Formats: sequence, structure tokens, C-alpha cells
Amino acid sequence: MTVAVVLFTSDLRLHDHPPLRAALRAADEVLPLFVLDPAVHAAGFDAPNRRAFLADSLADLDASLRERGGRLVLRSGPVAREVGAVAAACGAREVHIASGVTRFAHRREELLRKELAGKGVELIAHDAVVTAVAPGAVVPAGSDHFAVFTPYFRRWSQVPLRAPEAAPRKVPVPTDVRGDPLPSRESVAGVSHGVPSGGESEGRRLLADWRRGGLADYEERHDDMAGDATSRLSPYLHFGVLSPVEVVHRARAHGGPGAEAFVRQLCWRDFHHQLMDVRPQCSDRDYRSRDDDWRTEEEAAEEITAWKEGRTGYPVVDAAMRQLSHEGWMHNRARLLVASFLTKTLYVDWRVGARHFLDMLVDGDIVNNQLNWQWVAGTGTDTRPNRVLNPVIQGKRFDPQGVYVHRWVPELRDVAANRIHEPWRLPEHERAQLDYPKPLIELADGLTRFKHARGRTES
Ligand code: FAD
Repeated sequence: MTVAVVLFTSDLRLHDHPPLRAALRAADEVLPLFVLDPAVHAAGFDAPNRRAFLADSLADLDASLRERGGRLVLRSGPVAREVGAVAAACGAREVHIASGVTRFAHRREELLRKELAGKGVELIAHDAVVTAVAPGAVVPAGSDHFAVFTPYFRRWSQVPLRAPEAAPRKVPVPTDVRGDPLPSRESVAGVSHGVPSGGESEGRRLLADWRRGGLADYEERHDDMAGDATSRLSPYLHFGVLSPVEVVHRARAHGGPGAEAFVRQLCWRDFHHQLMDVRPQCSDRDYRSRDDDWRTEEEAAEEITAWKEGRTGYPVVDAAMRQLSHEGWMHNRARLLVASFLTKTLYVDWRVGARHFLDMLVDGDIVNNQLNWQWVAGTGTDTRPNRVLNPVIQGKRFDPQGVYVHRWVPELRDVAANRIHEPWRLPEHERAQLDYPKPLIELADGLTRFKHARGRTES
């Protein structure tokens, strides 16, 4: 009887799963394994909102495996040690895993290779599991990655994708390997109220609904913050309960301008992955330094707290930050403008904002989070690094009736749409009755003041 191990990481699904397919082809039995590695906890990457979603996703994966005659084996401990022990216990000759792009994933692969080589076990890493197109599959002449999105998108669009594979009918699993109990969502403390249920079954249901419902209108409505007209598939893609290959396929099969715009957005994931794969240091260092002398957490402590708590006095910023606390998720347009407010207006180090997002976001992702923060801060791949998003103009454009603000900032419930983004312009007697702060900083003042204070002129 031959056995192969499949180590699940950011790919918690049975549909369209090349490592599982390959293992089933190679061996009589397959051991599906997930390792809770204390290194993830030590690095602070297992924030409660994502732990809750992970618990749902592991439970769903286990249930789907059980329907196919198998089960998920969960182990806790350093990943290489646990995989080595499991491979030895079941006599596996191969371990299959999805390739990752972060520093953590590169290191994990290195440690696994070392550990398994000593035991005569081969580690086989599969590409295009976490992304639709593998990082490095397309590169521009003379470089190891694309630094600008549009030319990447053009080339990415031409790469043929594999046909998504169905989930296997049977997964025969060796019976004699010990596993720890799966974590439960109920055991996770501090989860935001609105964090959605995780798992492949839920992800597939949402994807089907999205194709029937919102996808056709995505192009027109994706920036409508109150309309909430995006897919909300990001946590399902982050945990890999949905296959990006399959999501792209299904959107293309749907067709139309909505689907085209949606596929372009999915390409941003791959764009960031291909960059992080060759520049993993960008998780905490500038991709393109502009010699910013950011204000630190200590220097801007009060403003940072007001930003996190949604008390900046800028209604759309505050609405967005409260949505983040409540749901562990935020609309993309809102992410752009709160990140611009923190980095360009308050001139706070992008890493401070990125850390807070990682603490809260259910889709929080080193690749997409850090590189989007850098894009906004002007140290990343934006070809217009000096752009500053004005929250009043953005609010009027993307929440013209103030519905988004009314939803999240109840103190402004009675303020009319034509004043909602500038409550400081209300007559004094009306303003005085609002339990809502004055603006933290005057907009024209922001970036200029802080840069001048450091003896530099604004570029
Ligand atoms: P949709 O609009 O329905 O888009 C479909 C999918 O495309 C998303 O689920 C996502 O996987 C992908 N996508 C869309 N926009 C982007 C983008 N700009 N970059 C990369 N992928 C994208 N996304 C994350 O998945 N994790 C993060 O930690 C994260 N942090 C962000 C931080 C900042 C400061 C900003 C500006 C953006 C961040 N994003 C992040 C990207 C984007 O905001 C979210 O992916 C999107 O809001 C998720 O909602 P949705 O699934 O409804 O998106």
C-alpha cells in the first residue's frame, strides 16, 4: 500500500486542487494534513477574525473528506517536524503542497525539504493553486517580475488556464495516524460580530449566487460603497476554499463587462503574488523607497487611535473604520481612502495601518495587504505615487446620498445628504448638538505640514 501526504495551507478545498489530485494519482492512500504552526501565532498572523474563518474552513474540509471516506488530520507544532512525523508514521514517500510566495512560505518549503530529504521523502510543490497564473509564468524582458499592473494584465490574460478539476469522489486515508481535535469557531475570543462563515461549501454557494446576482453589474457598481455590490469573496480566496483558477473560469464563462471588470480585479491578486514571490522583503520594506520620514506610532499616537476607532471627524473615513471593526472587512474604495488618509494626510508609516488591517481583516493577507498599502503610500507600484485621496470629494462621489455614512456613524443619522460629508459646515447650533468630533486635521494642511515640520518640501 503506497501513501502520499497532502499538506493543506492556503488551499482549504477539494475542488480544483492539483496537490490532492497528484497525490491520489501517485498513491493508494492519501493523508490530508493541516498543521497549526506556533510560528504563525508568534508572528501575530492568526488574528481572531481569521482564526474563526479558519476553524469553519477546516471543519468543512473535514466534513467533505468524510463524505468521501476520509478525514482531515490536524497536528499542532512546528510544521516541518509535524509533517516529518506524519510522513514517517504512515510510510509516505511523497508530500504534496501548494507553492507559496511569502517569506514565511519560502522558509516553510525550505524547512520541509530539509526535514523530508533526511527521511527519503520527496516534497512536491504545485504552482497555480493559490493564484490563477503561477508567479513567474509571465515576466517582462530583462526583469524577474512586472512592476506595472496594466502590461501584466495584458500578458496574464493570454495565459491558458487549466480546466478546473472536480472534487475527487473518494479519498482513501490511512486509519492509523493520530490527529488533534479540530479548532472550533466558538472557542475563538474577540471575533468581530459580522465575520462571515468560512468553508468551501459556503464559498461555492456564494460564488454561485454572485454569478447569478451581482456579477453582471460589477463594472458599474463596484465603487458604490453603500450598495455593497462587490463579491465579498476575498476571505474565500485568501483561505483558498475557492480556487482562483475556477473563479476566473466561471467569470469568463459568464461574460460581459461586469465579468471582465471582475476578472481584472482578480488579476490584481496574481500581480501582487508575482511581485512578492521575488521581493518577499516587501512585506515590511518599501518596494520603492521615496525616503519618507514617516511619523511613527509614538509621534502620532492620538491620531492613530482616532483613525482606528473611527473618530477622525471625516465621516466616510470613520464609517469605513467602524465597518472594519464590526465586520472584519471593508469595501475596497473605503480601504483606499482610509489608507490614503493615514499615510498621505496624517503622514503615518504605512506599516502601522497595514498591521491594524492584518489584526482585523478576515481576508487579511501579507501579499495583498502590504502591497496595497504600499500602492496607496506611494512606495509601491502606483505609477502616480503622489496622489492623495480627499475624503470629502471621495465621499461625495462614492457615497453621494450618505447612505454608507448613515449606516456606520449613527451620530450623523439626522444630518442631510448635502452636509453629511462636511458636518463642520452645519450651522453652529446644529453642529453643537452632534456627538461627533471636529476634523482631526485640516485637509490642505495634512501632508504639507508634516513634511515641512521635518524640513522637507512636498514633491
Ligand atoms: P471584489 O471587488 O469582488 O474583487 C474580487 C476579488 O479580486 C477580491 O475578492 C480579491 O481577491 C481580488 N482583488 C480585488 N481588488 C484587489 C486588490 N486591489 N488587490 C488584490 N486583490 C484584489 N485584499 C485582500 O484579499 N486581502 C487584504 O489583506 C487586502 N488588503 C488591502 C489593503 C488596502 C489598503 C487596500 C487598498 C486593498 C486591500 N485589499 C486586500 C484589496 C481589496 O480591497 C479586497 O480584495 C476587496 O475589497 C475584497 O472585497 P471583494 O471580495 O468584494 O472584492
